[in-house]
Amino acid sequence: MHRERFAPSPTGYLHLGHAYSALLAWERSLDYGGEFCLRIEDLDFIRSRKEFTSAIFDDLHQLGLEWVEPVVYQSMRTGAYKQSLQKLINLGICYPCKCSRKDIQLAIEAPHNQNTKATLPQIYQGTCRDRKMSEMGSNEAIRINMGKVIDLFGGVSRFPKLEFQDIGDQFPGTYSLEPEALIDYHGDFVIARGDLGVSYHLAVVIDDDYMRISHITRGADIFSVAPIHRLLQELFGLRIPIWNHHKIICDSKGKRLAKRHNAMSLRTLWGKGWTNVSIRESLGLNQSNCQN
Ligand code: GLU
Repeated sequence: MHRERFAPSPTGYLHLGHAYSALLAWERSLDYGGEFCLRIEDLDFIRSRKEFTSAIFDDLHQLGLEWVEPVVYQSMRTGAYKQSLQKLINLGICYPCKCSRKDIQLAIEAPHNQNTKATLPQIYQGTCRDRKMSEMGSNEAIRINMGKVIDLFGGVSRFPKLEFQDIGDQFPGTYSLEPEALIDYHGDFVIARGDLGVSYHLAVVIDDDYMRISHITRGADIFSVAPIHRLLQELFGLRIPIWNHHKIICDSKGKRLAKRHNAMSLRTLWGKGWTNVSIRESLGLNQSNCQN
């Protein structure tokens, strides 16, 4: 069955960019006789707030969206993430890391990049790479040793054909994971933070499978991490969804909307008299699926 999801983080009010993503996913689920699901990505317990979660429900209702119950909350799923992390540890591809606090801090959120395809966080230099999991101190992060992952799949020369498909308007095509690119562009990425036991990458692939998501509609600014997600899906033996990375909604200066752009929050727009219809119009979405 065609299943789409919208997966906001309750760390601020939704804006027009979120509305675009949610409406697109919802419309596609209707077009294909499928289901639209909602996941609240509230793993960052410092920045996530209940009032933002309630506002997400209100905004989505005002947009005319309905989703299948139950809503999935990531904060309730840490047991599943820990089990999955243990699988990776058992494969011998993880090591503890006590460096680059910023990088580790960022690992909890989706890495939204202004510059879509090419921009990725700096590749980790590998200072802690030779450390063993048994040496892990409290609150350290865990990284994936990309070289070991590639060896696990038979090495660079025998690396299997791992493909994924994107049907979005920005980078449509079928892509193959290239071991050299995994090392050069992704490197030893953070898979878990000591305090939370999870990273964005881990939670998202485990949850998309758990929710039986067949199509992932989200902004093209997260396209750059799709190979990591595809790789994790292979390591865990999960189903492979189809991605639909769509255009990014920007402000008048061409900057990606972010939660700090309060002026463009849906909440502000409702207050100014905008409606479901005017929001769709401004986003260039057709009105045929519009419910008032
Ligand atoms: N929670 C992420 C965000 O709000 C969504 C990530 C995703 O769709 O994979 O940016």
